[in-house]
Amino acid sequence: MDPLDVEALASGEEPSSAQARGHLAACASCAEAVRRAARLETDLGWLGAEERVPLDLADRVLRIRPFSVAEKRSIGIWAPPAALAGALALCGFALISGTAGAPSSEQAGTAAALAAAAAALLRATGRGLLELAEAAPAGASALSTLLHRSPAGWAALLLLVPAALGLRRTLARSRSLARR
Ligand SMILES: [Zn+2]
Repeated sequence: MDPLDVEALASGEEPSSAQARGHLAACASCAEAVRRAARLETDLGWLGAEERVPLDLADRVLRIRPFSVAEKRSIGIWAPPAALAGALALCGFALISGTAGAPSSEQAGTAAALAAAAAALLRATGRGLLELAEAAPAGASALSTLLHRSPAGWAALLLLVPAALGLRRTLARSRSLARR
């Protein structure tokens, strides 16, 4: 008897045909298989009753499932990561070209954001460097979950590699200084 038929019978379904009913009545090994499957189902039911399902389980399952074709084509899903990647690219261009030339309001805003980020980095380079190192992996993983949805995000992720290498080097230096 097919294992799927055994499962169906064990969960209380009627035999699919008169032939199946006859076989089940005559064949001891299939009847035993159905009994065992039914017992397993009952045990699993008890397990489920005792186990508390986390409230965010559905969200987590939804998060790890792959995108459907319709979702891949939906603008709503891709717009936020694309905007983020665009903002990152804008920051990169601003860094390369320098924000001095042709200060439009947008560039001024970018420059202010960059200056704030640089100031925060300088502040963190002091005593707070180890705290930054603790925050960095979590920040990087959060960023990667955001970015890995878009191809442009992958390119942006590559930028994390030199950043991480630089952070590691700075950390190693600060630790050897602290040991002295
Ligand atoms: Zn059989």
